[in-house]
Amino acid sequence: MKNPHLRLLSIAISGALLLNLPGCGGSEDTDTASESAADTATDTDTDTDTDTDTDTDTDSGTEDLGSGILHTAYYEFDQDNVNVVLSGTKVIIETNGLPNHTSPYWSASHELHVEPTVTSYAKMAPGYIDDFVGTYTLTVNNSPSKAGTTSATGLGAIGIAVSGAVIYNDEEGPGIPLDDAATSLDFNGAHTGPQSYHYHLEPISFSDDDSNLVGVIADGFFLYGRKCNSTGTYPTDLDESGGHTSITQFAQDAEYHYHIQNELYLGSYYILFPGNYQGSASAIR
Ligand SMILES: [Zn+2]
Ligand SMILES: [Zn+2]
Repeated sequence: MKNPHLRLLSIAISGALLLNLPGCGGSEDTDTASESAADTATDTDTDTDTDTDTDTDTDSGTEDLGSGILHTAYYEFDQDNVNVVLSGTKVIIETNGLPNHTSPYWSASHELHVEPTVTSYAKMAPGYIDDFVGTYTLTVNNSPSKAGTTSATGLGAIGIAVSGAVIYNDEEGPGIPLDDAATSLDFNGAHTGPQSYHYHLEPISFSDDDSNLVGVIADGFFLYGRKCNSTGTYPTDLDESGGHTSITQFAQDAEYHYHIQNELYLGSYYILFPGNYQGSASAIR
């Protein structure tokens, strides 16, 4: 396990640098020391080796980033693939769309490439994970609340997973049910095409019949595995979106969140998020 404090510090520093961009006064070099718009003069040099307890009032940790503290669940996201920034009451999640785990969908020369198991080369979708060059960005509330009405998810990315890759719903395309493409899914319930690598089913590389954090859905609510940390077992009070309100391993105060529903799909899989959104979803671009 990585040191969680270092992970936290890394996110805070990258956030501070990004947040300082508008106030840099013409300098485009984000490595130079600059003043935070929200604070007194701060040292944004990336001296991660110094004692982090010396500047507890203004410029270390997450306290000085905007008006609140970043939800601790965001520290679970992959540090290399995903950048998370708290800006006021909003959280900006940007990912390169690449998963931090093995898959047969990596090109053969990639170090994370493995042979297909539940699918086969003949059945796999066209395209490699590493063909994708781009980013996905989602902006959500740091403390989202349920909307008055639910709304349907659409095709394309509906969430960002902790691995760095994106989450899709239970449809493969316009009028194409997931069943028609299920044989192309790898052991993480994911495949490529027509855009980047994406999950439809429980991604067992990082959530396998447990209460692990899976990712954040486009309405800002977190998606967890089939079990809930509050009880250690399958929740029995889920709404039609797989959501309920309870404490989690990242929230000591009860908050609304989704779970992968413990309902078998095609005999041995679990659909990640059949929807609907219970909050107000933002576009993932
Ligand atoms: Zn798909
Ligand atoms: Zn729960």
